[in-house]
Amino acid sequence: MAPHTVPTRWKRGMIEVGSRVFAYVQASGVDPAGDTGVANAGLILGREGNVLVDALMVPSMTRRLVAAIKKTTRKPIATLINTHHHLDHTGGNRFFRGATRIASEKCREALVPGFPPLPLLQRFMPRFAREFPLLEMALPTVTFKDHLVVHDGDREIQLWHPGFAAHTVGDTVLYLPRERVLFAGDIAFYYVTPLAFQGHVGNWIKAATRLLEYDAEVIVPGHGPIGGKTELTYMRDYLVAIHREAKKRFDAGMDAEDAAADIRLGVYASWSDAERILPNVMRCYQEFRNELDLPLDLGRMLDGMERLRGRATDHTCL
Ligand SMILES: [Zn+2]
Repeated sequence: MAPHTVPTRWKRGMIEVGSRVFAYVQASGVDPAGDTGVANAGLILGREGNVLVDALMVPSMTRRLVAAIKKTTRKPIATLINTHHHLDHTGGNRFFRGATRIASEKCREALVPGFPPLPLLQRFMPRFAREFPLLEMALPTVTFKDHLVVHDGDREIQLWHPGFAAHTVGDTVLYLPRERVLFAGDIAFYYVTPLAFQGHVGNWIKAATRLLEYDAEVIVPGHGPIGGKTELTYMRDYLVAIHREAKKRFDAGMDAEDAAADIRLGVYASWSDAERILPNVMRCYQEFRNELDLPLDLGRMLDGMERLRGRATDHTCL
């Protein structure tokens, strides 16, 4: 994999990435700004109404997003598109009750049972614990199977769901061909370690490879700074390496937590949340055992990540 420099700070706020197309990168108060739960959003200004890409997580986040939208446009959000069901992308849906809310069928299915239990959320993301009891679900109102195009004048927003689970069961990406902007949702993580706790690493590699085929100039990841294909390749290479190294250790009979501690992360040790290697290896192990339909034990995952943070990390190359 290509060596690269890992930024520790990046541009935040409402950033124009194409004509009347914006990425919204949150200022989280910590650096690097990729801590769990802190996702990106997008805003596409239309003739009659605007399209919002993801609604963020807790009310304080979505209120700041709404304020930033109001500074950018007077028109309301007519359409909200959820890139996947994770709380940090859908928690704020209820702020857009008047909007048509679009998601893939699988994304909506994953939202129907409700958000994860409060104690688990509060343990997973303690920084936001106080706001989790305020969450209320607002489900998508329109679903699609694998392709959908939203038209507005001569602007096209192409939605695509890969047809398999990658980061989650219901991932959607949005591509604007005229502006050459791709909103990749959590199929792309830039300089923030990708997290596959509900994903399929092997398929995620395939999905990322497919995204590289878009003629995109700008790619807005679900987490981390705005980038392009270079950063997407870095992330894909991380997944390829984890998948390969996990397989070697799986075949050798090593347990997942020992494997996660044993794999040398190289430059990726500097990506934020490096301990996510544990859930990523655990999901690879489930994939190798054909047990991906079993949910990962999140309590065990969090315990293991805490232990991993305490273990010495090695910075040599994979
Ligand atoms: Zn996600």
